[in-house]
Amino acid sequence: MSVGCTDTPVLRERGQHEVFCGLTGIIWLHRKMQDAFFLVVGSRTCAHLLQSAAGVMIFAEPRFGTAILEEGDLAGLKDANDELDREVARLLERRPDIRQLFLVGSCPSEVIKLDLARAAERLSDAHAPHVRVLNYSGSGIETTFTQGEDACLAAMVPKLAATDAPNLLLVGALPDVVEDQARALLAAMGIERVQVLPGRRADQDPQVGPNTRYALLQPFLGDTSDALDRRGATRIPAPFPFGEEGTTLWLRAVANAFGVDADTFDRVTEAPRARARKAVAAATETLAGKRVFFLPDSQLELPLARFLTRECGMSAVEVGTPFLHSRIMAEELALLPEGPRIAEGQDVEMQLDRVRADRPDLTVCGLGLANPLEREGLTTKWAIELVFTPVHFYEQAGDLAALFARPIRRKALLAAGRGEAAIAVAAE
Ligand code: SF4
Repeated sequence: MSVGCTDTPVLRERGQHEVFCGLTGIIWLHRKMQDAFFLVVGSRTCAHLLQSAAGVMIFAEPRFGTAILEEGDLAGLKDANDELDREVARLLERRPDIRQLFLVGSCPSEVIKLDLARAAERLSDAHAPHVRVLNYSGSGIETTFTQGEDACLAAMVPKLAATDAPNLLLVGALPDVVEDQARALLAAMGIERVQVLPGRRADQDPQVGPNTRYALLQPFLGDTSDALDRRGATRIPAPFPFGEEGTTLWLRAVANAFGVDADTFDRVTEAPRARARKAVAAATETLAGKRVFFLPDSQLELPLARFLTRECGMSAVEVGTPFLHSRIMAEELALLPEGPRIAEGQDVEMQLDRVRADRPDLTVCGLGLANPLEREGLTTKWAIELVFTPVHFYEQAGDLAALFARPIRRKALLAAGRGEAAIAVAAE
């Protein structure tokens, strides 16, 4: 017997991609890791991407930057390495607050085969113990923007301190306020030794070992999960904590792994569950009965489709995701009601043809596709907003539903010729 979409055949597409590269993750990672600096080793294009993704203006000296590879560097690797060493030395002298430095690879650094792993080792030796230097790739070739976080966290795992003590590791960079909510729920259930990867500061990074159990907070952390497994840690399989149901199932999986009894679980979760259900219901009026189409972008597509179909009354026409980690997604696929096409990878023209044929009420897609689709009269939601907005756990469930309801309400108001009201909704 099939369960949900577990047995749904996956349409695998390998064509042109329309996604941001993994450098984008620096925007939320640098906010989370307060003594880290992200040095992109790349071109002026990479610098521009970071600047525009980070917003219009940076008032304080930021904790990310770009070591620009000039044309001359393409000719001489030795010069590029020397220049990188000089750049890092200047940076660390100026910024004694930096404790972790990430050298972030880009398309240009990969094209010239600049070995950033060796550079990180060399620079770690030079600047230890004050600064730890790590490297990962944010290059845009065949990647998607959330892979930057996965690559960054996976690079941290081998350097985490070892422990034999039992601990719970929460994996993923959530806004501090949301992380605190999760910690408070777990503490109320009596679960101790809860650590988070990444820590807010280098000295708060977690320890890992054979008695570590970890729960993923984001569905795009496949490489990080593999790296933790290699350190002997055990993943707690669970759906992701989006919406009331997803949060409850995620918490229950963790609670079961740590022997929390059912009464305690119910006592701790009852009130926030009720709040979440009420908040989601407010947006459901707009969403119920509507059809949603996910183009592959953030890797959040499957959990969000599960949330929208099971909690908000929507139906999914197609759920496209850049990569389908069948191991990590097993619980999500089992919950997702049968019906939608499931697609992995991207062939953008073919996908757009299917969007046009299906005419969904809402298309969730990347920034580059949203405007053309809007011009064709389709209603869209930018997938990237879902990564920049706090959407996990109970207290954000209503906001998550509202993010999808807002463009539909705006379109309805515009269709009714009430432009002023629509502008008010847009400004909410
Ligand atoms: S890493 Fe590649 S895709 Fe990303 S901004 Fe730089 S050149 Fe562009």
